[in-house]
Amino acid sequence: MKVIGLLGGMSWESSVQYYRHVNERVRERLGGFHSAHCVLYSVDFAEIEELQASGRWDAAGKRLDEAAGALKRAGADFLVLCTNTMHKVADRITGLPLLHLGDATAGAVLAAGVRKVGLLGTAFTMEQDFYVDRLASHGLDVLVPPEEDRAEVHRVIYEELVLGVVREESRAAYRAVIRRLVERGAEGVILGCTEIELLVGAGDSPVPVFPTTRLHAELAADHALGLAEMPGNSQGST
Ligand code: GLU
Repeated sequence: MKVIGLLGGMSWESSVQYYRHVNERVRERLGGFHSAHCVLYSVDFAEIEELQASGRWDAAGKRLDEAAGALKRAGADFLVLCTNTMHKVADRITGLPLLHLGDATAGAVLAAGVRKVGLLGTAFTMEQDFYVDRLASHGLDVLVPPEEDRAEVHRVIYEELVLGVVREESRAAYRAVIRRLVERGAEGVILGCTEIELLVGAGDSPVPVFPTTRLHAELAADHALGLAEMPGNSQGST
């Protein structure tokens, strides 16, 4: 079994879900007492959030590259960056093969026969090119919510979910955002922030949802077990 390097999450609320999912997947695949062979590097999210909010992506990339180096020294064979947003700096992370979250997600969306897909995530993920382009490079047509909905989705992530706060009124707001994406033609919706699964799931959407945390973690476990290839795309492996 390969050793999974988890670089979380960036909030620990998301890292803990990754840890659970990789272990559950390995138990499901191998049974008995089996569990994932993994190393977790958990950052201080306050430090990362400050770099994001001030647009210091170079410094953030450097910080994550250092963390990846630590994971490698600890024995990790490949890297799972447990956040959609920080894939903005994926190409700054060196030293270990990266199982890209965008590629893992796109693979699951395509396998479900969905081509036109809605995207929920942080404002960075919904509004900048790095994530939408990665999905589009697989042939997906990506719909993002309008500005007011994007602001609310982002606010709930940073004011509630990364702190482990789950509110019924926020769930209702997310359901309404999803409904509006479906009205515009979305055949599925990507839960493109690794804390969103704390709030909504399949029961909150009239179309299939693609929970990035679970999809990413399960593919990582399968890859560690030699049951799945590292996904790629036309832009290369990072
Ligand atoms: N985990 C979130 C994501 O998947 C946002 C918080 C963060 O990692 O910056 O985008």
